[in-house]
Amino acid sequence: MILLGDYHTHTKYSRKNHGKGTVLENASVARDKGLKQIAITDHGFNHWMFGIKRKDIPQLKEDILNAREITGVDILLGVESNLISADGDIDVVEDDFEFLDIFLMGFHNLVKMKTMKDLFYINWANGMSVFSPSQERISRNTTAFLKALDKYPVDVITHLNFGFPTDTVAVARMAKEKGTLIELNGKRINFTDKELEIMASEGVKFIVDSDAHSPERVGEVNKALNLIFRLNLPLNQIVNIDKLPHFENKRGKI
Ligand SMILES: [Zn+2]
Ligand SMILES: [Zn+2]
Repeated sequence: MILLGDYHTHTKYSRKNHGKGTVLENASVARDKGLKQIAITDHGFNHWMFGIKRKDIPQLKEDILNAREITGVDILLGVESNLISADGDIDVVEDDFEFLDIFLMGFHNLVKMKTMKDLFYINWANGMSVFSPSQERISRNTTAFLKALDKYPVDVITHLNFGFPTDTVAVARMAKEKGTLIELNGKRINFTDKELEIMASEGVKFIVDSDAHSPERVGEVNKALNLIFRLNLPLNQIVNIDKLPHFENKRGKI
């Protein structure tokens, strides 16, 4: 099992020292670990603490060209977009797809939501709850994903079920239909074995990513690899092990 690409890495463009390295540093570590391709996917625009600024995109593009030249690693420009409403709205707009090579999406806290109601029912309800999730909360989170998948050309759903309890199998089924990949995150797995086995048996496609916030963690996906090995998940359903995926079919399709 050889990982050839890491499609979820953060840099200093995730602000306030949240992402630690530069594009060149991430790419250099990727090269040293034998990766052929990486994506720079900083937090989406509505993340009010760590989100990348739209005005920084031209500089990011330049950094990517420069790092590609120096390291020989192919680098995709992406974003880890935020869900911002129960209705499946996100913080990427049509014009943004012009510059995106890959488009990741997930739930996060500290995000500017679409309405006060979304702030309350999505962020506060999930972020502050110390009790086991209500059916209502799970169903609200799940619906947000299903609607977003229907509206937008999402390449990858990141760390599904982390902090925002979701009917993962329902989301994975829709993802399969839409050609969207489910991330096996190198830092945290929030699926039960049973859920993963159902997804695998139904032909859901997965991508293994580090979610690195510092250069040395680029390509670190052992948690996910151990899981794949232990559950014997079919390697032909994992798009970046022993092969490279293609994302360009989604580009500019919104
Ligand atoms: Zn982060
Ligand atoms: Zn994330």
